Amino acid sequence: MKINQPSVISHQQLGAKGSGESETLLLTDSRQPTADSHLAHRNIPITIIGGGIHGVSIALRLLREIPTAANCLAIVDRHPLPLTQWRRKTERQGMIFLRSPAVHHITPDALGIVEYAEHNNRTDELAPPYSQPSTQLFWDFCRMMLTELAAYRVYHQFEVARLRWDKGAGKFPFRLISTNNTGFRSSCVILAIGADDCAYIPPEFVQWQRQYPKTVLHASQFTVDGKNKQGSGSKIVIVGGGLTAGTLARSLSERGHHVVLIARKYLKTEQFDFPPIWLGPKALAEFANETDFRQRYDIIQQNRGEGSITPDIMETLMSASNIDLYPKTCICNIALTEESPSAQRLQIETTRSTITDVSRVILATGYQFDLRRYGFLKELISKYQIPLVQGLPCLDGDLQLYPIQNLFGSGTIAQLQIGPASGNIPGANLAYERLREKLRGHL
Ligand SMILES: Cc1cc2nc3c(=O)[nH]c(=O)nc-3n(C[C@H](O)[C@H](O)[C@H](O)COP(=O)(O)OP(=O)(O)OC[C@H]3O[C@@H](n4cnc5c(N)ncnc54)[C@H](O)[C@@H]3O)c2cc1C
Repeated sequence: MKINQPSVISHQQLGAKGSGESETLLLTDSRQPTADSHLAHRNIPITIIGGGIHGVSIALRLLREIPTAANCLAIVDRHPLPLTQWRRKTERQGMIFLRSPAVHHITPDALGIVEYAEHNNRTDELAPPYSQPSTQLFWDFCRMMLTELAAYRVYHQFEVARLRWDKGAGKFPFRLISTNNTGFRSSCVILAIGADDCAYIPPEFVQWQRQYPKTVLHASQFTVDGKNKQGSGSKIVIVGGGLTAGTLARSLSERGHHVVLIARKYLKTEQFDFPPIWLGPKALAEFANETDFRQRYDIIQQNRGEGSITPDIMETLMSASNIDLYPKTCICNIALTEESPSAQRLQIETTRSTITDVSRVILATGYQFDLRRYGFLKELISKYQIPLVQGLPCLDGDLQLYPIQNLFGSGTIAQLQIGPASGNIPGANLAYERLREKLRGHL
């Protein structure tokens, strides 16, 4: 692939660092994302709900193959800019390198990031052994690709409050209604909604979180350098044994905090969060042959496990003098430290020992996808009795949310068809391969 600088906006204009929704510099005025009023009363053949890694990857693939598809496509997301969620979560944790290799990104050019790094003298940001890109390199590459997407003007800020399917109601049976009460119709909808609305709090922590809402936080509520920053040197307990726990522990220890990482099991070291065979045809064919969706769910659990930590982060965890690792440990109670009730310092009783003077407990306990947690889908789920296994829909081979026609899923939502890699970056390509012909049929 040849790397072309965007024709209208240069890489410098895009800016190198900084984050989030304030980054209006991402798009020039004429290319600003459009608000939901632009969609009002329109009939749009293909709508993607979710402008994250999956929604953007699918759109870019379709538009590269059929540029005129831009006239028939809308990506809607609650954020003003695409990939906001991705940017936020990587920044919040202080993630420096991706876990996955450089060949996994948002466009179909496998070597896109590598060539971008070479072109910009940034090959030192590709880490051995699999050329994992630095988070900044990945993001800068994505920004360049987003200018390509912006040229098509398909991205709209629109938070879907309700999705209706009027079966048999002509060519555009879906009706999408925003939180601002704007509506439009579509003939086909792809749900690329991620899993971030499904933060998992283990049952034993629910009460402690209610009791100490400012101190016991899910990782998605915490930012290493954010408002909730503690004075350097404070003691922070992280619960979890996956990469989020490891990355947070490293980031906080580097900022001078004393970290105690508590995991129910022994910590596991793995480069990837699922075995790479799940990207190949053999494992996927065997998975497709399993007709019992509960068995498929178990296969996914076995292959993704309860989380693991990459070798480089594990090395830091083992060597940092201000990180204590408590594997095979459970928390039995959380209470205020008696000497400092006003400062909200906590005392954590564990099966190993009691930790006092804790300023934060961060639950790096991940996400547990459950379709029922997406309010805008509630009506559809109950009216059409969408079958679920542990909250995951039993999609058909075309990734349709049976029995609703032309409602598709990509990302974690499609796990029961795409397997353990579904929610990851390469899962978008696997999904697109299944969706391609169906989408062409709507153009
Ligand atoms: C810190 C972190 C690091 C990761 N690193 C890697 C990695 O190195 N390699 C890898 O392969 N995977 C990685 N992953 C896993 C995965 O690739 C990411 O989570 C990725 O962001 C998933 O993409 P997505 O599009 O499915 O979801 P998201 O990026 O979460 O996007 C979903 C979008 O849907 C929108 N949305 C949801 N509901 C609505 C609604 N009602 N109306 C409008 N919009 C809505 C949201 O606003 C959001 O923008 C990582 C995950 C995390 C948390």
